[in-house]
Amino acid sequence: MSNVILVTGGSGLVGKALQHVIETEPVGSRFGKQPNETWIFATSADGDLRDPAQTLKLFEKYKPTHVIHLAALVGGLFKNMKYKLTFLRDNILINDNVLHVSHTQKTTKLISCLSTCVFPDKVEYPLDEDKIHSGPPHESNFGYAHAKRMVDVQNHAYKEEFGCNFTSAIPTNIFGPYDNYDLEDAHVIPALVHKCYLAKKNGTPFIVSGTGKPLRQFIFSWDLAKLFIWMLREYDDVEPIILSVGEDEEVSIKEVTDAIVKAVGFEGEYSFDTSRADGQFRKPASNKKLLERIGGFQFTPFEQALDIIVKWFVENYDTARTGKKA
Ligand code: NAP
Ligand code: GDP
Repeated sequence: MSNVILVTGGSGLVGKALQHVIETEPVGSRFGKQPNETWIFATSADGDLRDPAQTLKLFEKYKPTHVIHLAALVGGLFKNMKYKLTFLRDNILINDNVLHVSHTQKTTKLISCLSTCVFPDKVEYPLDEDKIHSGPPHESNFGYAHAKRMVDVQNHAYKEEFGCNFTSAIPTNIFGPYDNYDLEDAHVIPALVHKCYLAKKNGTPFIVSGTGKPLRQFIFSWDLAKLFIWMLREYDDVEPIILSVGEDEEVSIKEVTDAIVKAVGFEGEYSFDTSRADGQFRKPASNKKLLERIGGFQFTPFEQALDIIVKWFVENYDTARTGKKA
């Protein structure tokens, strides 16, 4: 039987990583393309998923048997703080349309993407899959988190009422090639890689937002892509699953900055702008369920992945998503 796998958000950080893995892993291998598969990487130019008619048209065109739903309005701490309602509305619309059309067009499996931002702010650590709805999310990403939580609610409702095979992944902070490297709207790693690169090139000050004390877990996009492919083939449970490195791999923003300084080869000083927000202090997530289910996985060491993205960013500076060039 031939399978058509539609990846929404195919031009983004994670979509591009999926494409990379599918094109580079040996055909027929655990994370490689299977001979009976056709992969479609859709972008917003193929249809605005906030619009029901355009969403239906996309599904009618490709008739996907499987969907990896990545499309979303995404951004770092500062963009989330600025556009709470837009994050809420756009993501609710996108997700509702994709889930509804996946059901009406009889897609056999749908994997949606949540984030560890969805978890409550005040909760016992580590975060695990049972704690998503047990308290309000951190106020900095209130809109995004509530929209994403609804996907889990909908997945359960679609399963109960219609028997749909819908599920969701919960990645921690992601970084990789093709990320958004905008100076203001990006997530911390791409924003700091860009700032450090400019500081080295132009002698501009390298200023890190906040105190540098918050802790995060980071997953390299190529590793995450493999985990999505594993889910596609081997994970058939409506309950979400955290896709993350271990809890012991939390790093502070200062440690991240020092690693970026090294990878970029910046020899100057940097400072912290403590008037800017720190966001959630930490959100350590357990990957126990993942490791039990997948039976072991080799994550790319953080410094090695950073070297890959810095090299990619420097080589692709003119075409990378950098927002306004400074
Ligand atoms: P990204 O790089 O910003 O890419 C977003 C993708 O969504 C792009 O392909 C974009 O298409 C598409 N898209 C946005 N709005 C759309 C619309 N209205 N209609 C159709 N397509 C639309 O995002 P990402 O970082 O790869 O994120 C992928 C998934 O991972 C998201 O669900 C996100 O919430 C989740 N996630 C991300 C992180 C992270 O650190 N980045 C962490 C946890 C979870 P165009 O290129 O055509 O605009
Ligand atoms: P979050 O994990 O959802 O909070 O998202 P981010 O990837 O945006 O990480 C935010 C953390 O990095 C906060 O503690 C920020 O204060 C810190 N940070 C330091 N410099 C920057 C920057 O230039 N951009 C962003 N987005 N965060 C930064």
